[in-house]
Amino acid sequence: MTDDGLTKIITDRAGRDEPLCLYAYDLDALTGHVERMTAQLPSRCRMFYAMKANSAAPILRALAPLVAGFEAASGGELAKARAVDADTPLLFGGPAKTDQEIAEALRHRVTRFHAESVLELHRISQAAAEAGTTADVLLRVNLSGPFPSATLAMAGRPTQFGIDEGILADAVGAATTLPGLRFTGFHLHSLSNNLSPEAHLDMLRLYREKVLGWEHAFGIRSEVLNVGGGIGVNYADLEGQFVWARFTRGLARLVEDFPAHWREIDFECGRFLVAACGSYAVEVLDVKRNHGVPYVLVRGGNHHFRLPSSWQHSHPFTVLPVDEWRSTAPRPELRDESVTVVGELCTPKDVLARDAQVSRVRVGDVLVFSHAGAYGWEISHHDFLSHPHPHHVFVTDGGECR
Ligand SMILES: *Cc1c(COP(=O)(O)O)cnc(C)c1O
Repeated sequence: MTDDGLTKIITDRAGRDEPLCLYAYDLDALTGHVERMTAQLPSRCRMFYAMKANSAAPILRALAPLVAGFEAASGGELAKARAVDADTPLLFGGPAKTDQEIAEALRHRVTRFHAESVLELHRISQAAAEAGTTADVLLRVNLSGPFPSATLAMAGRPTQFGIDEGILADAVGAATTLPGLRFTGFHLHSLSNNLSPEAHLDMLRLYREKVLGWEHAFGIRSEVLNVGGGIGVNYADLEGQFVWARFTRGLARLVEDFPAHWREIDFECGRFLVAACGSYAVEVLDVKRNHGVPYVLVRGGNHHFRLPSSWQHSHPFTVLPVDEWRSTAPRPELRDESVTVVGELCTPKDVLARDAQVSRVRVGDVLVFSHAGAYGWEISHHDFLSHPHPHHVFVTDGGECR
C-alpha cells in the first residue's frame, strides 16, 4: 500500500455516516521490510518476532514464513501463534509464567523456554518431566552494571525481569542438574527503542564478554545466545531511523569473534519489524482554543493508541484534507498553528500530539498517525469510556484481507 493506497482507503470511508476511525496495516510493506532485514543477517543469526508488539492474525500470517519463529510471552500468545501456524517455531518467555502456561507451551512444542527465576526452572523441569520430555532453556539474565553506555534501560537497575547476575550460579546449577531441563544458553534483553547501531553493537560486545565469562566461571557451554529486541523507531524524526544495514555490517564482523559452539544467535524484535506498516487514521470532530492553546479533538484517542502517552511523546501525523462538509453549521478550522491533538476521552492524559505545526486543519479532515503498527492498539485500554473500537483494515496487493 503506497501513501496513495492509504489515502484511497481513507477517502473511500471519509464523509460516511460515522466519523472515520481506523487502523490500516500495509502487509506488503511489512513483508518487504522484514525480507530485506532478514536477508542482511549474517550466518548463525536468526530473527524471531516478539508477538507482543502486534499479535493480529493477518500480521502473524504475513510474518510466519519470513521469520525464524515467534516469541510468545503468555498462554494467549501461544494460542494465537498456533491458530495461525501449527509448525512455526515458538520461544516462550515472560516474567511470571503459570504452571498451566508452561504445560501449554510443552503441548504446543515450543523450541525453547526463557527462564526468569530459579523457581521457574523447577516449574519447567517438573512440567517437562510429567510430560515425559526435556525442555531446552535459556537463562534470562538481568545484568549488573556499570555498563559502557547509558542505554540499558531494563537491566543494571531493579526491574522484575530476569535472574540477577549475582545469583546466576544458583540458576546455572538448577538448569544443568534438574531432570526435565537441558541448559541451552543465555537470554539478554536489556533495552528498548535504541536508535543507534553503534550502541547496539557495543551492547552485543558486552554480551559476548559476559557469556564468555560465565562459561569460564561455571564450566558450561552455551549453544544459543538470545540477544532480545530493542531496535528502535525514531518517532521524533521519521527520516532518522535505525540503519539496519550499518548494524548488520558490524554484526557480521562481531559474529566472527563468537566461539564456534554458539551455534545460534537469536534476535526477537517487535517494534522495528511492525511499527512502520501501521497507520492510525482519525477524523477531526472539533477544534477549539482554550487558554490560548489551539486544540484538535478527534474521534479516537489513547484508548486506541496509547503509545504517545505511554512514551510521553508527540506522535507524528499528517493532515488528509476532506473537502466534503455536509453540515449546515460553519466549518471551523485552524491555520498555521502549533496544535495539540487530543482524543475523545474525559481525561487530560488523552493527548496524541503536542505543539505540532499544521498549515491547515478543518473539522472533518482526517489525521493519519504513521508508525502505529507496534504497541499501538495492543497496549491500549480499549473499553475505557465505552466508545466504539476502530476498524482494522489489512491490505495486501491493493486489496483488503481479513
Ligand atoms: C518486548 C520484548 C521484546 C521485543 O522488544 P522490541 O523493543 O519491540 O523489539 C523482545 N524480547 C523480550 C523479552 C521482550 O519483553
